[in-house]
Amino acid sequence: MSTEISKPVSIRGRKEDGTDVSADGQVLIEEFDHNDRVKRAAKAWVISWALAVASIPLIIAHWVLVPGFLIAGPFMARRYFKIESVPKKVNGSCPICGESTENKLESGDKLPMWTYCSAHRDPIHIVPVEEA
Ligand SMILES: [Zn+2]
Repeated sequence: MSTEISKPVSIRGRKEDGTDVSADGQVLIEEFDHNDRVKRAAKAWVISWALAVASIPLIIAHWVLVPGFLIAGPFMARRYFKIESVPKKVNGSCPICGESTENKLESGDKLPMWTYCSAHRDPIHIVPVEEA
């Protein structure tokens, strides 16, 4: 079963007058155990091979798509198996406008990263806080 954990982050930004400001936030991370990773890998493999089967009726394109999806299946499965955790979102307050911000993260996003506050589109830098 996957578990969700949250870790502290620092949300940094620069005000219009040039002063650097920061605020505390939390990043929500979904972690996968071995069973989850196997399930996710199997799902990716099955979807890839299902797409290969679905490509069979496509005239001419099936010469490329069918072997492509067949080959991609195990590679996709391996890629999904190696993913141990996925960042979901960052919560906190924007250091520039002071309003609360919630940023959804993509599975490929890695901290630290630049994004925009959800309230006023201020550029913010999300930096993980090192735990002592
Ligand atoms: Zn803002």
